[in-house]
Amino acid sequence: MNNVGSALSTETDVVCKMQVDKRNAKFTSEYKGKEYYFCSLSCKKKFDEDPEKYLSFYGSRK
Ligand SMILES: [Zn+2]
Repeated sequence: MNNVGSALSTETDVVCKMQVDKRNAKFTSEYKGKEYYFCSLSCKKKFDEDPEKYLSFYGSRK
């Protein structure tokens, strides 16, 4: 398990892989009980259209 970044309040935008500051996040989505953060509305829209596409890709990376 890789904890790098957990000390900061950031989450990875699963669409573009940018680090998003949770405290300033304006674009979020909830999927299967987990909250996802996005840098922009366009990333959120992409995720909402096809969440599994991004989650499977994200999950395959360590
Ligand atoms: Zn993004």
